[in-house]
Amino acid sequence: MKKIITYSLLEKNINSDQYYSDVKLLADETLNHEEKILGQVIDEFTKYVSANSIETLRSREEYMLEALIVGVLWNVYGNNAKALTKIQGKILVNLVALRKKGKAIKLSADLVRGFSSTIFLNKKSTNELEISILGLKKLQGWILASGEFNEEWRRILNWENYFSSLTESKLENVFNLLIHYGIWFQSRSETIVGKYTINVQQFLKNQKNVYRFSEDIIFTGRKRTEYHLNMVGAEILNRAFRNDFLKTKKKKLLIPICMRDKPSNICKARNTKDGYICGHCTKECRVNKLSEMGKKHGFEVLIIPHGSSAFTDGKVKYGEIGIVGVACLLNLISGGLAARRLNLVPQCVILDYCGCKKHWDSEGIITDINVKELKKIILASHSE
Ligand code: SF4
Repeated sequence: MKKIITYSLLEKNINSDQYYSDVKLLADETLNHEEKILGQVIDEFTKYVSANSIETLRSREEYMLEALIVGVLWNVYGNNAKALTKIQGKILVNLVALRKKGKAIKLSADLVRGFSSTIFLNKKSTNELEISILGLKKLQGWILASGEFNEEWRRILNWENYFSSLTESKLENVFNLLIHYGIWFQSRSETIVGKYTINVQQFLKNQKNVYRFSEDIIFTGRKRTEYHLNMVGAEILNRAFRNDFLKTKKKKLLIPICMRDKPSNICKARNTKDGYICGHCTKECRVNKLSEMGKKHGFEVLIIPHGSSAFTDGKVKYGEIGIVGVACLLNLISGGLAARRLNLVPQCVILDYCGCKKHWDSEGIITDINVKELKKIILASHSE
């Protein structure tokens, strides 16, 4: 039995098949419920995007997911956002920028960032965030300062513009719908997929002490409803990009380093400009098996040391390259959105459980995926 740190898609089963059928049900219910209560808002937002030439229109499911993200993040972080001052936000945003300037500076920036995040971002106001454009800007400020939701922040910018075009009473009405939708999602998702995240609750009891002053205090402190949001988000994004993905000529499978059977000093993977390629040193290694599958079915398999190194610089035309990202739950929505922003056509498969050394386990747990699900996604002949 694998050690469960936060979530496990296996629950008590030998594989995660049941999870994949549960999450489909939750995604259907989530979209149907949203259509009922927020359908008109989605219509109006879509019209706004089109009339103002903000971007080439995306699918309805993508915009519906964005509205869900706003509702959930508002409920989870609204009080934190209310407590964050402008100057604290600025300090954190600068630290996030600084850590991208190279390894040497990253270490020092992360030290200060861990300290500042613990003090500034975890603080909660006893007052609710006010429903107004100012309130949304405050939430956006907190999101940006955390450095954990950059893609979500970008997508919410369009909503911020749309909300600015509404009258005060209409804005209040729409926001109340979003907030209630977020509350509905929290409760409904717990009923349907909560069995896969029971350990998160236990994990969070000690998290603030264990990760105090650590750079990943916000990442590891994500709430159960955010795990569920990522579950549904991954399913919705997979549906939204399915047809475009099937049409791509080149397909890549991106695997996290925690799936390797051997540690770095033994693993024979070779570094290339796009990522590491398996050196086939161990027959039982899951990465080796997937690389063999890739050779047979014509997709490239790359090991990616960290999520931030997963994608190229966007100099491809949308529709040319399809990627299947394998990642732990909390990285799924941001990974999918980043891939789309960089003109890649994303699909994703969730690690059945998490266990990387960087965030979750000092020893490191070798992770795995549901290969049946991967085949359904990456092999066109397996698609429904
Ligand atoms: S089989 Fe490949 S990925 Fe696995 S440990 Fe060996 S070289 Fe690394």
